[in-house]
Amino acid sequence: MPLPRSKPGMSADTPLSAIFARLIANLGPISVMHYMGEANARYYATRDPLGVAGDFVTAPEISQMFGELIGLWLADVWSRAGRPGAVRYVELGPGRGTLARDALRTAGKAGLIPDVHLVETSGALRDLQSRLVPQARWHDDLASVPEDGPLLLVANEFLDALPVRQLVRAEAGWRERMVGYEDGRFLPVVGDRPMDAAVPEALRDEAPGTIIETCPGAAAVVCEVAARLAAQGGAALFIDYGHARFRTGSTLQAVRRHRKVDPFVAPGEADLTALVDFATLAQVAQNHGARWLGTVEQGLWLRALGIDARAAALARAAPAEAAAVIAARDRLVAPDQMGTLFKIIGLAAPNWPDGAGFV
Ligand code: SAH
Repeated sequence: MPLPRSKPGMSADTPLSAIFARLIANLGPISVMHYMGEANARYYATRDPLGVAGDFVTAPEISQMFGELIGLWLADVWSRAGRPGAVRYVELGPGRGTLARDALRTAGKAGLIPDVHLVETSGALRDLQSRLVPQARWHDDLASVPEDGPLLLVANEFLDALPVRQLVRAEAGWRERMVGYEDGRFLPVVGDRPMDAAVPEALRDEAPGTIIETCPGAAAVVCEVAARLAAQGGAALFIDYGHARFRTGSTLQAVRRHRKVDPFVAPGEADLTALVDFATLAQVAQNHGARWLGTVEQGLWLRALGIDARAAALARAAPAEAAAVIAARDRLVAPDQMGTLFKIIGLAAPNWPDGAGFV
């Protein structure tokens, strides 16, 4: 049977905005979740978004200290678990591979030399990762990561990129928040189908205009990681910006060239993120067999792990770099920078020890 010919102008080179515009013209508005998922898949597949010349800078790109302290944490918990063999380092959404390189270097000095599995969907970023972590094996998702041996899993700024579903309270009841297209522009609109059954009892009577956001993809990932920890042993750290407690409201935002931009302009050309709901994820993890070690602000966690001493040592070793090292330390821990908004949630297998930094 001949393959259907693709429609002219609909190749991978077509701007996503043109594809969305045609889809919406033909079928009506698409959900915010669909919009965000497709936009980020296109965005990450086509570029390296990280660094000063890109759109945003992440903690491992600010300083090697970030990855080093994560490597130390992993080596410490592994050591207190009795130094099991066949242990696997797994990272979700490793970006340029910088965190993996720094963490594995530090862990190796403590005798922890795991095999390395990177979960990454972007071909552009896999190429970069293979330069810094040549020993790695790559996966499209967790399903193909080996099912034996304890997992030491890390994910920095991964969950925030997964698409959120938004529900909005209309006069007549709860509806899904959708994206429409009018006069050449995308804009949020209210869906037709009643969604009241999807809203927890306690929130049903919120005022019109209230938005509730959930991230089914993040819950699914944490569920799978928790079940893996319970079955295989190990520990996991998810680092991201978000709330320690559930709140209402949209947190969807877009960043391009280090500035916030309208998330409904130029889909696929800006990084779309939403704040992570750590309270829900802690619950999901515990419901699926993992131990929740705690959720701690990034600044407190890095201080507990010894970032001040590490910064002082680096500054002494290279006095010309001292000011830059201290500035990087401040950026990672200061409350008005990344120290408070970013949080670390720690999970472990039921029979694994507590981790440092979670009180
Ligand atoms: N952890 C890195 C990069 C964060 S950016 C750092 O801290 O610098 C988000 C990362 O997640 C990118 O590597 C992106 O390609 C990847 N990613 C986004 N959505 C994904 C998905 N659904 N599955 C796998 N990787 C994904």
